[in-house]
Amino acid sequence: MDKYQILKEYFGYDDFRQGQLKAIDSILSGTDTVAIMPTGGGKSICFQVPAMMFKGITVVISPLISLMNDQVRALSQCGIPAAFLNTSLDETVIARVIADAKEGKYKIIYVAPERLLTPSFRRLCKSTEVSFVAIDEAHCVSQWGQDFRPSYLDIKEFIGSFKRRPVVAAFTATATKIVKQDICNLLGLRNPEEIATGFDRENLYFEVVKVKDKLTALKRYIDLYSGSSGIVYCSTRKNVDEIYYELKNDNIPVTRYHAGLSKNERKLNQDSFIEDEKPVIVATNAFGMGIDKSNVSFVIHYNMPGDIESYYQEAGRAGRDGSDASCVLLFSPSDIILQKWFINNAEDNYLLSESQQKELKKLRMEKLQQMVDYCKGELCLRNHILRYFGENPTQRCGNCSFCTGNTSSVDVTIQAQKIFSCIRRVKEKETQQVVVDILKGNETDYISAQAYNELSVFGIMNDSAQSQIELYIDYFIKRMLLTKDDKGILKLENSGKEVLFKGRRIRKLTASKKNKDDQIVSLDLRLLTQLKIIRKDLANKSGMPAFVIFTDKTLEAMARHKPKDEKELLLIPGVGQKKAEKYGKYFLDHINKD
Ligand code: ADP
Ligand code: MG
Repeated sequence: MDKYQILKEYFGYDDFRQGQLKAIDSILSGTDTVAIMPTGGGKSICFQVPAMMFKGITVVISPLISLMNDQVRALSQCGIPAAFLNTSLDETVIARVIADAKEGKYKIIYVAPERLLTPSFRRLCKSTEVSFVAIDEAHCVSQWGQDFRPSYLDIKEFIGSFKRRPVVAAFTATATKIVKQDICNLLGLRNPEEIATGFDRENLYFEVVKVKDKLTALKRYIDLYSGSSGIVYCSTRKNVDEIYYELKNDNIPVTRYHAGLSKNERKLNQDSFIEDEKPVIVATNAFGMGIDKSNVSFVIHYNMPGDIESYYQEAGRAGRDGSDASCVLLFSPSDIILQKWFINNAEDNYLLSESQQKELKKLRMEKLQQMVDYCKGELCLRNHILRYFGENPTQRCGNCSFCTGNTSSVDVTIQAQKIFSCIRRVKEKETQQVVVDILKGNETDYISAQAYNELSVFGIMNDSAQSQIELYIDYFIKRMLLTKDDKGILKLENSGKEVLFKGRRIRKLTASKKNKDDQIVSLDLRLLTQLKIIRKDLANKSGMPAFVIFTDKTLEAMARHKPKDEKELLLIPGVGQKKAEKYGKYFLDHINKD
């Protein structure tokens, strides 16, 4: 089978994404490869597809148990024989996996770096043909990144131990030069081909909110996205706990994750998030690398992270399945103080000299400054991120809180300007009802008594329905541009003032219009709900998270195109041969009955 057939048959996709093709071709030609792609960019397929084409087995080195388990589970669903070796298995199981691997039962073996140099694993590698070694999250080899893992330094020796050296490819989302150099040197790559795909993730909407009362802002956002899955990142465990209880008291289906919880609780909580029992999770950045959940619709940062790389990696956990998703950062100046404290109080790294430590600190401070600049929000946010990663975007993105001109949202700046200037004219002393009356031009007794009918904003929105004006106000409150105090008086937030005085534009998100084909055929929401129920049943029966069976995006495509038989079903993105055989019937039966 060629690479396209593998992509279609096993993964159900028609096209490789930008960069995947280059990485795969480079690997297949036998060249060592470093691929730098953003989180959610589709790195796994870059090593999984070649693994299916090479003779013998592929060893994938991965830093986290949960990551390995999830990927192996997802591969098995696609019909790709894979296994993992890590400390979650007991010795008898490990022995069995190794024996099966020797017999050629697997195409892909995931291992933790600690296992590479153990005698049993070395024996396995001697007795089978290992054609390809893929290193996922390769930045873990570098002490200049966030997730340094000493045992990643063993990889070089491991690769050197083969009689016939396998092709080696390293994957990461970290793009700094120094980390890239470390990856090439410390992993011992030979003349590696370097592939860096565009860092843009079009489906992500970026927003920075500057507010004092973050908790209220957070609750409004969660309300705005209610019913969907999301992650709330906090900088400290204490913050996680506080926010978790706050949300829980509001009956939001929420769980939490940080390194201070017992291993058992962490696992339970993570599972309930992944399985969508608790679709919202509040977490520190300890909750991260292993999370490949595809239907995360929002990532809210309650605190500013220490650098743009961490931010983009964490925010990038939204919208992995390609659906529209939002990344919101709640910023306040105290975040800067906290991050500086982290830098100044970081534990010494025993592998670095004193002058290197100093340099590292300086580097972190510089990175922090770039993160702060992002939060000041004086530029297109996406362009800010892309420039940080070395790209040179020439146009504003139209899909961030700074921008305009996006097709998937409507510009409501003018409405915001009208409403906000009315609120200013009445000196932030009137209720929503009075503000609406003025905008609408209703001459009530009160309005006349206050001489509000003489204001320039009187009747300025008389062409909009009263209910429409109210909806705008509600929306602006949710977006933290306005607040309503206990007495119902409307006040402007700082972000709202920026609309009046700094040319900030406001866009209201609507359904995406990116995929024109999908737009022509409208989505049958009732059918979609039923398909989700079927998926949930199948997930429960097989003990698998729902999105491993089919992603939300795949179900949406089914609900639009209503495939009649297996042949048509295979045309839906995300439906491969194996899944069609295994699950297709359940969905087709229902679609045909409908
Ligand atoms: P990364 O490891 O780079 O963060 P993943 O490998 O987890 O990203 O992929 C993210 C998502 O993108 C997954 O849900 C995957 O199925 C999807 N994906 C990857 N490649 C393609 C493709 N060519 N077409 C459609 N979806 C893809
Ligand atoms: Mg990955």
